[in-house]
Amino acid sequence: MDLRDTPEEAAFRAELRAWIGENLTDEIRRGRFEEAGRDWSWKLHEAGYAGLTWPQEYGGAGAPYSHQAIFLEEMARAEAPPHLGVIGLGMAGPTIIAHGTDAQKQKHLEKILSTEEIWCQGFSEPGAGSDLSAVRTTARRENGHFVVDGQKVWSSFAHIADWCILVTRSDPESARHAGLTYLLVDMHAPGVEVRPLRQITGEAEFNEIFFSGVEVPAENVVGEVGGGWQVAMTTLLHERGTLGFALTAGLESQIRKLIALAKEKGATPVQRDAIAREWIGLQAVRYTNYRSLTTLMKTGIPGPEGSGAKLWWSEANQRVTKLALELLGPEAQIVENGGYWQHQQLRSRGNTIEAGTSEILRNIIAERVLGLPRSR
Ligand SMILES: Cc1cc2nc3c(=O)[nH]c(=O)nc-3n(C[C@H](O)[C@H](O)[C@H](O)COP(=O)(O)OP(=O)(O)OC[C@H]3O[C@@H](n4cnc5c(N)ncnc54)[C@H](O)[C@@H]3O)c2cc1C
Repeated sequence: MDLRDTPEEAAFRAELRAWIGENLTDEIRRGRFEEAGRDWSWKLHEAGYAGLTWPQEYGGAGAPYSHQAIFLEEMARAEAPPHLGVIGLGMAGPTIIAHGTDAQKQKHLEKILSTEEIWCQGFSEPGAGSDLSAVRTTARRENGHFVVDGQKVWSSFAHIADWCILVTRSDPESARHAGLTYLLVDMHAPGVEVRPLRQITGEAEFNEIFFSGVEVPAENVVGEVGGGWQVAMTTLLHERGTLGFALTAGLESQIRKLIALAKEKGATPVQRDAIAREWIGLQAVRYTNYRSLTTLMKTGIPGPEGSGAKLWWSEANQRVTKLALELLGPEAQIVENGGYWQHQQLRSRGNTIEAGTSEILRNIIAERVLGLPRSR
């Protein structure tokens, strides 16, 4: 693969960079995600940058995945906030495109792009995280609709979401991967209760969701009744699809800030070695990203390589932010100027858990990338 931008990709990058320069204000960059995010997301949509790779018939730009990778890189480089509909754009939308009915496509896709509908992901439960097949939230069939009862947890954006992609157990006799049904659930329906959970950073980005007798129309089933596992796998593959590019670009800007801090504070030889090692690792993971982009461009389906980038980034981000606190020394105890590094280190703790824990990602890499025997 030629790693340089083609003339057409270079033109797209230049145009995008100029657009970001003109439209990304400090107010948007520093504003609270939920408020500033809506304006920013609308601007991205109007300029045609939301749903770049989505087919044109659903309001997307029908662009190649390389454009999406460039978009994620440039957004991270400019430290632009993401589109508010990360779950809608990255997970719910692609799943509806792959498995949804025409009516579901008509109803939701355009509104996901415009942020008229914010989505959340109701997969994890208190007893079902890494092992999603242990889901116990039930969907009981009753007169042309389903009645949903149960609890989900760690649902990002549920406190502002209009819709939820929900994995339920529709066959009470079933076990593990069988008997699951994937539903689109209106978060404003009677019986849905959202309780925010406070994180170590002090913010409350994720939530518990309680479902008590929530009526969901049968036309909101995605795929087959009982075939929810296959649909959920599509969602999870897309979660890590081109994400590597955003993560690597974000890590690069983080390491550059670390280098500036090291110059300002003075670093010991051991700390200088550690910073150099992070830079070298970053260059290596960049090539893994290109490998996964090649798979995606050839097949249209994200491959397991994306797991490698997520694993590397999440652990590197923890090391980099810890190094910054070491460089700050006793100052790290005092939160000044927003406490950038303190916040980053605390938030980075969740990085090795969300979107697949490090242990689970190592299992995926061992089995699906390296072809080692299954762990169980
Ligand atoms: C910031 C954040 C945002 C999140 N957002 C969402 C969201 O929007 N929607 C949603 O549905 N979920 C969300 N999650 C939940 C996340 O997907 C789960 O926390 C994650 O899958 C782990 O599940 P668990 O917490 O139940 O831990 P468990 O699965 O109970 O794991 C506990 C420990 O055991 C290890 N372990 C488990 N199984 C194995 C195995 N087979 N081999 C080796 N080790 C194993 C794990 O690695 C971990 O260290 C979010 C989590 C975080 C931290």
